[in-house]
Amino acid sequence: MSSEAKPIREIRINPVVPAEAVLVATARAMRPREAEQPAERDTRTHVESCPFCRGNEERTPPTVAAWPEGPEWEVRVVENLFPVLGTDDRGGPLVLGLQQAIDGYGRHEVMIDHHHHGVALHEMSATHLALLLTAYRERMRALYASDPRLRYVLAFKNFGKAAGASIGHTHSQLIAMPVVPQNVQDEFAHARSYHARHGHCIFCSLIDEALTYEATIYDRDSGEVRRRIDVGQYVIERNERFVAIKPFASRFEWEVHILPLAHQADYLDLADDALPDLADLLRRTMHRLDAVIGGAQYNYFLHSLPHCAECAGGEASYHWHLEICPRTSIPTGFELGSGLFVNTVSPEEAAARLRAVVLD
Ligand SMILES: [Zn+2]
Ligand SMILES: [Zn+2]
Ligand SMILES: [Zn+2]
Repeated sequence: MSSEAKPIREIRINPVVPAEAVLVATARAMRPREAEQPAERDTRTHVESCPFCRGNEERTPPTVAAWPEGPEWEVRVVENLFPVLGTDDRGGPLVLGLQQAIDGYGRHEVMIDHHHHGVALHEMSATHLALLLTAYRERMRALYASDPRLRYVLAFKNFGKAAGASIGHTHSQLIAMPVVPQNVQDEFAHARSYHARHGHCIFCSLIDEALTYEATIYDRDSGEVRRRIDVGQYVIERNERFVAIKPFASRFEWEVHILPLAHQADYLDLADDALPDLADLLRRTMHRLDAVIGGAQYNYFLHSLPHCAECAGGEASYHWHLEICPRTSIPTGFELGSGLFVNTVSPEEAAARLRAVVLD
């Protein structure tokens, strides 16, 4: 373990979204309220009363897509019964003084990730995970094609009560919306300006830096070397095509990002022959998280190139990635009031512990 005995207390800036800062404070006093201990996970294979279990298809809205089609589906997509965004047009934007709203049109789908009710991601086979990752890609593609007003399709998964999952059966969601969410917009805008200034993609630069195993921090004023840091320590694992990285400015204690090693802006361009490597790295990463935290409750989401006229030309500067954010603490008033995330486990130590997990 590379953990330092001295508590860390520093504000780290997200290099992709400089407006986003994290206070890494490993002293106990800063610890936010711990999340409820994960309730015993429901590991049952089949639950008769669960509408998402195989055989209960008539209890959900109709099937939108399934892999494979028919009663033996492995992954199945249905419309959300309680959509966040609907198809109703109010007929124009709503403006109330300074308050503005645009119609909440869009699409909201639920992806049943596995016919097995309580299976965790790391327990799924790599073949199944490849199917799931294909399903995200295919539904994103279909949703973008269904309505030109849709500018962003967010694919995400909430697993466990602490992560806001309201249904016991393992599932993901896709929300197609008429706006580019602020998080993505911030990443996109900064990546574009970084590209304009430096001629390359900031995500590729961060990957290169992580894989070269050392970075030098210069003093802003004098230009002198302040310290050298071993940036290789942020790589959890890499394979032929993908890398799992612990961000230097991690907002969440056990946050991990997965990115393609070769530049690729849009998840829709993910090639079939890259799927096994991505599935394998995802499975291994979730396994590590589960081993270290013990029953990971998490949110993960895909950040991919937005589809909008203003985003044209962004292929060179944006780089898709999967952000995995395990929920081990509950934000307090300090975080909500300051907008500053508090992380009480040093990313260096977290990375070392994740890397130390022995996998088959
Ligand atoms: Zn179920
Ligand atoms: Zn890139
Ligand atoms: Zn992102």
